[in-house]
Amino acid sequence: MSFGGIEAGGTKWVCAVGSGPDELEAVAVLPTESPEATVDAAAAFFREHRGLEAVGVGTFGPVDLDERSPRFGTITTTPKPGWRDTPVAAMLGERLGLPVAIDTDVNAAALGEHRWGAAQGLDTFCYVTVGTGIGGGGMVRGRLLHGLLHPELGHMRIPHDRGRDPFPGSCPYHGDCFEGLASGTALRARAGRPGEQIEDAATWELEAEYLALGLVNVVAVLSPQRIVLGGGVAKAPGLLPLVRERLTELAGGYFDAPELHREIGSYVVAPALGDRAGVLGALELARVSAAAPAPA
Ligand code: ZN
Repeated sequence: MSFGGIEAGGTKWVCAVGSGPDELEAVAVLPTESPEATVDAAAAFFREHRGLEAVGVGTFGPVDLDERSPRFGTITTTPKPGWRDTPVAAMLGERLGLPVAIDTDVNAAALGEHRWGAAQGLDTFCYVTVGTGIGGGGMVRGRLLHGLLHPELGHMRIPHDRGRDPFPGSCPYHGDCFEGLASGTALRARAGRPGEQIEDAATWELEAEYLALGLVNVVAVLSPQRIVLGGGVAKAPGLLPLVRERLTELAGGYFDAPELHREIGSYVVAPALGDRAGVLGALELARVSAAAPAPA
């Protein structure tokens, strides 16, 4: 059986047909344009492939994921121009005549890592991505995290020492929230150049400090069995060991688990699926939804 998967991002949509990392029949990368143009292009790609059972979407957000809501599958308060209140799941369903499963991009990536990657066999874990923004998803007791809305780890508040870092933060809603201080957008705004061009040690120590502050909160709130740390910024050379070291210090010997000290190297890890976690997770979303019994 074959499925469609979309990692719907703010700059590109990665679309795939297949059923897993070794069974990918086709992949297309489409630029994110207007909602109509982007959904039309994705639908045209999937129409080239006969016999799809369902399509899964891992999308940027915020997105309404309340199955009882008339706006289920709608991207809501995004600051991305033209995309506010876009019913992306319904638009795809109309064009394709197929069931469409939808979740956040980070929950989709978490699902992909759970099925094939670094979170296999775990029932409670987090997937945190640090790129243009910061997002987080994951599972608790084997179920993807949802609730009132969905987790917004990027917008938690973390301590901000303005003596060490006078940068006011880049989040349009909160200024110096986690994402406002530690995302790629924040790095670029603070330094005046993109992260890939920043080499001074103090910048990366500060970045590791912020990431560890965010992660220690995640540990305290959700007690994840592992944290998968993805996204373009997290790939910066040498950053992951700094984050682990600082996270162990911040944990302060309180958490009675070797994962928070001597096994920290296998506790905070890079995604095993790399940049494909999101689109593979979207395929898995489609498979899981197609396998679920129809509501009575
Ligand atoms: Zn924020």
